[in-house]
Amino acid sequence: MEELPDIRIMRERCVFCGDCVRLCPQSGEGTDRPVFSDSGGEVVVESRESCIACFTCVEFCRASAIVISRGPSVQDDIPAVFPARPFDRIV
Ligand code: SF4
Ligand code: SF4
Repeated sequence: MEELPDIRIMRERCVFCGDCVRLCPQSGEGTDRPVFSDSGGEVVVESRESCIACFTCVEFCRASAIVISRGPSVQDDIPAVFPARPFDRIV
């Protein structure tokens, strides 16, 4: 059985801009269960099952607050390595 991506949003870094919600191809209309929700002023992951691991959210997060990895979910752990943003993708 394929393991689900482990999506973590480090809330101490997140500035709640909502870019990940808007840019995720699995969020919004056309999906039954969006990956992200920004309801209540916080970004939360609603459904890891919907993630296609495109890494758009990781690349465009202005705060480098999102980490996605393949493997078993250990939601309580803070990852030791933060993602680097590709310089040619900074907007
Ligand atoms: S793109 Fe990053 S900083 Fe913006 S809401 Fe999403 S996790 Fe937070
Ligand atoms: S990796 Fe892609 S599909 Fe998965 S949460 Fe991020 S933007 Fe959405």
